[in-house]
Amino acid sequence: MTAYPYEIHEYDVVVVGAGGAGLRATLGMAEQGLRTACVTKVFPTRSHTVAAQGGIAASLSNMGPDHWQWHMYDTVKGSDWLGDTDAMEYLAREAPKAVYELEHYGVPFSRTEEGMIYQRPFGGHTTEFGEGPPVQRTCAAADRTGHAILHTLYGQSLKHNAEFYIEYFAIDLIMTDGACTGVVAWKLDDGTIHVFNAKMVVLATGGYGRAFFSATGAHTCTGDGGGMVARAGLPLQDMEFVQFHPTGVYGAGVLITEGARGEGGYLTNSEGERFMERYAPTYKDLASRDVVSRCMTIEIREGRGVGPNKDHIHLHLNHLPPETLALRLPGISESARIFAGVDLTKEPIPVLPTVHYNMGGIPTNYKGEVLNPTKANPDAIVPGLMAVGEAGCASVHGANRLGSNSLIDLVVFGRAAAIRAGEIVDPKERNQPVNTVSVDAALDRFDRLRYAKGSISTADLRLEMQKTMQSDAAVFRTDKTLAEGVEKMKAVAAKMDDLKVTDRSLVWNSDLMETLELTNLMPNALATIVAAEARKESRGAHAHEDYPNRDDKNWRVHSLATVDGNKVTLTTRPVHLDPLTPQAEGGIDLKKIAPKARVY
Ligand SMILES: Cc1cc2nc3c(=O)[nH]c(=O)nc-3n(C[C@H](O)[C@H](O)[C@H](O)COP(=O)(O)OP(=O)(O)OC[C@H]3O[C@@H](n4cnc5c(N)ncnc54)[C@H](O)[C@@H]3O)c2cc1C
Repeated sequence: MTAYPYEIHEYDVVVVGAGGAGLRATLGMAEQGLRTACVTKVFPTRSHTVAAQGGIAASLSNMGPDHWQWHMYDTVKGSDWLGDTDAMEYLAREAPKAVYELEHYGVPFSRTEEGMIYQRPFGGHTTEFGEGPPVQRTCAAADRTGHAILHTLYGQSLKHNAEFYIEYFAIDLIMTDGACTGVVAWKLDDGTIHVFNAKMVVLATGGYGRAFFSATGAHTCTGDGGGMVARAGLPLQDMEFVQFHPTGVYGAGVLITEGARGEGGYLTNSEGERFMERYAPTYKDLASRDVVSRCMTIEIREGRGVGPNKDHIHLHLNHLPPETLALRLPGISESARIFAGVDLTKEPIPVLPTVHYNMGGIPTNYKGEVLNPTKANPDAIVPGLMAVGEAGCASVHGANRLGSNSLIDLVVFGRAAAIRAGEIVDPKERNQPVNTVSVDAALDRFDRLRYAKGSISTADLRLEMQKTMQSDAAVFRTDKTLAEGVEKMKAVAAKMDDLKVTDRSLVWNSDLMETLELTNLMPNALATIVAAEARKESRGAHAHEDYPNRDDKNWRVHSLATVDGNKVTLTTRPVHLDPLTPQAEGGIDLKKIAPKARVY
């Protein structure tokens, strides 16, 4: 029996995470009359979604012709043909509905002269199945879109009587005979332990950008959901695909939205050349993110970087009218001033590709249900468990996510999870008794970490992991760097048994909290580098110099990684090739989205 007394809370649904995905799921569950708790380690409106600047993609056609099928095509191509067709169809079709819902909930979108939702161009978003000009598809609230969405969804969730448990840190899942039956959480401000006994658990814990040294994500983006799932013996999917955003502020890592290029910004090298015109003649600076990040890296490698060390690139906005900058990109003007010390109306911003988004995560179907694929049934689900948002992998982003496709993923799949839960969770049924064996196991682990008496501090080990991932799972990868990276990361992960925690308190103990986070970052990082080493091709964000081409014959498959300590076991799962709707019933013509070379 555990030495920690705990309080039990009974709910139909417990959502872990209060970012865009968690709040949209919470709101949807509560709207359907399910007793819903939302557990979050930070105050809801401080979740990383608050930092999303550029916008949310949906084919509203407010600025010119658009169609859900064009959005789907762009998503398929952006994914480098690794996304699941049914999920990508669901995303593109449901996107307009989800954005209008946000509008009705009260999101203060920017407006056109006619009063419609303003939409801007974003990388990889085109018309006519990639044959036409760029499209204005990205709905924006100036450059504070995530902020606007998060505040609105939080208000709406409160209105629908969802119950919030704020600054509660979820430690582990409660698993009972292969099904999830709740979570164990630690209340950070008074040190008490809480067991959430629920019929459905939704993980909406966000990405794991902090596995790397330089990332645009918040310090709280530590892949806690992936860590909990890995400890439950369940696989993570497509972890090798990590997005580098082209324009992180040099030295600071802070993001300059792609909306900056959407509004007319462009990149130059040390010769003042707009080099993207050479690499992507049609879409130039608005090619897909992985493409632009690689081109920038090539320019720097070939000696055409800017600055005294020729190690970064310039982003120009100084040719744009100051009124446009003030109206459309006010937050960016501020970031450029604070983090790069430049006045962007006069000078270019120094930028560098920076870790930004995790395409991989907890595998789910398009209803948000978590998968535990077997050979016999690659679509087998884990009863009682869902994952949405950046923590999940539906998979709509495949090998590379298009800008503004994450915010729409959050709300479309947050909503989908709520719809599915409405079908399968019966509010009249009684909760199962608490599985005390599983709770005790979680608290034993907690206790071991609390009293860890090894020789390396959490901060030092985290830094070792971050530096290794930054140098060996980078924009360009080779057999050699990856093999070295795997060995280094296994050695780093082995040191988890030698951690030293100095603060034993249960109240506001950031040492212990960061240690728990490190136990989550580590399996995410390990899975990433091991899966990257195994994938012998280049696809989307995985640019392998020894295998420069995409290999659809052998590698158009999802990779699955099961992590146990510092051991990773890899298997695969087939990509879903069938659409949700046959063409005869208004679905897409599959010939339109058949694999081909990915040029912009
Ligand atoms: C700077 C920046 C700008 C971006 N701009 C855009 C954009 O313009 N358009 C776009 O489409 N995408 C953008 N993205 C990507 C997008 O914002 C993210 O992918 C998305 O916000 C992730 O949302 P989420 O709800 O999955 O997770 P998050 O918003 O990261 O929220 C995670 C939640 O989980 C909770 N949590 C985590 N672990 C625990 C735990 N152990 N216990 C309890 N609670 C926990 C946290 O408290 C938090 O509430 C941007 C990302 C960044 C970093």
